[in-house]
Amino acid sequence: MGRGWSQQKRERTAVVFTAVLVCVAYFVGSRVGDALRFMPLITSVMWPPNAILTATLLLAPPRRWWIYILAVFPAHYFGQPADRGLLLVLLLFLTNWSEALIAAISVRAFSGSPTRFDTLRRMAGFIAGAVVLAPFLSSFADAAVVSLFRGEPYGMVWRVRFFSNVLTELALVPAILLAITRGPAWFRSALPRRRLEAVAVMVAPVFVWSVIFESMDGWHAFRASPALPLAFLLPSLLWSAVRFGTGGTSLSLLVTIILATSATAQGRGPLTTVPGEGILGLQIFLTLVGIPLMCLAAVIEERGQAQEAVREQLRFEQLLARLSSSFVHLPGEALQEASETWAGRLGESLRLDEVALHRLSRNPLDFVVVSAWTAPGLPPRPPCTSRDVPWIAEQLRNERVVAIERPEEMPAKAARDVETFRRKEIRSCLSLPLVSGGRLVGALTFITIRSERAWSQELVQRLELVGEVFANAFAQKEAQDALRASEVMKSAILGSLSSGVAVLDRDGRIVAVNDSWARLTPEWEAFGVQVEADDNHVSAAWTAGVDGVAAAREATVGIAAVLNGSRDSFAFEYAAGPPAAARWLALSAVPLKGPEGGAVVSHTDVTERKRAEMEAQRSRQELAHFTRVSTMGELTASLAHELNQPLTAILANAKAAQRFLDHTSPDLGEIREILSDIVDDDRRAGEVIQRLREFLRKGDADFSPLDMNGLLRDVVKLVASDAVIRNVTLALDLGPEATAVNGDRVQLQQLILNLLLNAMEAVAEASPEKRVVTIRSRIEERVVHLEVQDTGPGLQEGVADVIFEPFYTTKAAGMGMGLSIARSIVEAHGGKIRAANNAAGGASFHVVIPLVSATRT
Ligand code: ADP
Repeated sequence: MGRGWSQQKRERTAVVFTAVLVCVAYFVGSRVGDALRFMPLITSVMWPPNAILTATLLLAPPRRWWIYILAVFPAHYFGQPADRGLLLVLLLFLTNWSEALIAAISVRAFSGSPTRFDTLRRMAGFIAGAVVLAPFLSSFADAAVVSLFRGEPYGMVWRVRFFSNVLTELALVPAILLAITRGPAWFRSALPRRRLEAVAVMVAPVFVWSVIFESMDGWHAFRASPALPLAFLLPSLLWSAVRFGTGGTSLSLLVTIILATSATAQGRGPLTTVPGEGILGLQIFLTLVGIPLMCLAAVIEERGQAQEAVREQLRFEQLLARLSSSFVHLPGEALQEASETWAGRLGESLRLDEVALHRLSRNPLDFVVVSAWTAPGLPPRPPCTSRDVPWIAEQLRNERVVAIERPEEMPAKAARDVETFRRKEIRSCLSLPLVSGGRLVGALTFITIRSERAWSQELVQRLELVGEVFANAFAQKEAQDALRASEVMKSAILGSLSSGVAVLDRDGRIVAVNDSWARLTPEWEAFGVQVEADDNHVSAAWTAGVDGVAAAREATVGIAAVLNGSRDSFAFEYAAGPPAAARWLALSAVPLKGPEGGAVVSHTDVTERKRAEMEAQRSRQELAHFTRVSTMGELTASLAHELNQPLTAILANAKAAQRFLDHTSPDLGEIREILSDIVDDDRRAGEVIQRLREFLRKGDADFSPLDMNGLLRDVVKLVASDAVIRNVTLALDLGPEATAVNGDRVQLQQLILNLLLNAMEAVAEASPEKRVVTIRSRIEERVVHLEVQDTGPGLQEGVADVIFEPFYTTKAAGMGMGLSIARSIVEAHGGKIRAANNAAGGASFHVVIPLVSATRT
């Protein structure tokens, strides 16, 4: 508030001061005008007060016009000769200010910038409005007043007033305006030589006047053509037009007018024949010369400005070209230094006080200072942060340009920003968002402290080009940093891998390997694995080893298939080295995506894993054997029963044979029959024992083609007696087809036995007539389906998968291994097992195993 008050006070003082100044100038002007009068005419040859008022109105904002119009009234009143009545003075005042008013309004209407005359358009607007229209219209009233009050001829008064005002407006208004608006700056910046020239061009008409006009009577040519000397006024006018623009021309014109008019009024010079008409001729001459001259000066100035603009543009383009070239291939680490240098260069060439470059950090989303420059002579200060100027930061985040000529221009919600501007004494500011590839990457800010700066659209557009260069440099650096980070990460990942990794190009040549590859290769070579051949080609040879040539062939074919895109990936394991100390290696290849093609091959020593697997396999087999032995233990009673039958039969038959032999004439036919029964029974007992022995055999898996239905029947025979004892009906429902699978007899028997025993145990809880276990086999889509269905209580809810886990059991004496072993057997045969409850009660175990022909593919 305090600031607002003091500002208002200052403004008021300035207005009062100006009003007084204008009043004094008006008074002096009216005295001068009065001196330039042809008695007895009331109208002056030149009347400066109107031009002074016009210039004032053009400079002042329209809302203050009334102040100045009122301010000049005393000057007008006291400036008039005492012999005039108040009414006449008042009416003449009205006609005078109406001229200034018409001039000011029409110039404002014609010219966008009423105090400037630097283009032909503006000059033409001024001439049309202030020089022609205003004197033309106001002279009617003025002539009427004068002829009414003083009886002077209307036409004559109008003509004299019109031409005198035309001349005064033409010469004086631009002279006053330019002296005020541009004079001090010109005076400060002009070189002494130029100042001297300015004085010369002003003095030249005085010289011409005094030397030539004074002596013209002696010159024959002048006598013959009295108006010729007027031509001598032209060189100095032209000189000023060419060298000093509109300001110089108007001053030069003014000097010429004053000299010529005062001389003519005094009856000297070339136009003195008839006093009044001579003046009119001079006025017409000077008007006709002055108007084109002023236009010429404006055109020259306009051209000069255009040239300066072109030069400026060129300078800027050179700057931009240098800026672009120094940023185009700038390595990321040099960005900081380059941006500092260029912030300074930009600041100096644009005559700014501070330049700051910010980068947008992603997390958190904020502007971070990259470089800042402060003009020499000003104390360097930290650039504004987003917290200092939240409104500007918000605009920038929305990719909007912020151009502030004065802090007061900022909206109410930018209070914090205004406060910062005030604290840091920032007068004007231009902030550009830096956008590259549609993404905001930073901001470029220009600040003035010592003076206000209007940010023309042209300047903003140019600086946006500068911004683009910085934006691209930022984006490039970001990309470089990201690339470097990803490369560092990739090589760290590759380096940390214990596997050897090699990258191949599309022809299979190794283009890069990781440390492990380099380290392991000699080790592998030691036991005969030669991956790199002479030409660095991976289709190399595995020269020796367990799998030797076969592995080499498989690897070569597999990698080639990945390289040519016919396979998505390739992996295989092989053994190498002497059998006693064999090493296992795994080789895999995946294609490199992208236009270049190629593949990544990884080579790993998996001996440890392989050994562990083999160890686990052995443990599983031992456990399976153990469970088989314990299962047999459970079946002892039924086996004894089964063996007992043939043995009893053998005994009975042997006894019968003995009795036959006791006869005197034994019936040899009977005895032969008995013996063949004994042989049959013995065979039966032998088979039982054979089956047992096979089942209890301990050893490695031995895969061979087997008939699944045959196996089922064998196992059913094995448990048949047990079923009788348990009062369980075993129903066989075997398909008619041949069910040949590739498998290990003992393992598959164990599988079926485990399922059957579980089923028989399950049905034990049912009433005797319901104790049925059904065994089915079918062939469908090249697989054998086995099903063991019971009428027991079924599986508890949600355990269909859990029951296959080791040690899961619901039985008091159970071990929980039966189904786990069953599953590993099925999987070792490339099949699947699952359990489900039947709709009619009881559980079903379903096994699928591929047919022998299917496993070969
Ligand atoms: P164990 O027979 O020693 O318990 P298994 O692995 O053979 O071990 O069986 C695990 C569990 O699965 C059994 O304890 C039982 O709860 C369940 N189970 C197996 N077969 C059946 C079946 N036919 N009906 C119901 N539950 C069964």
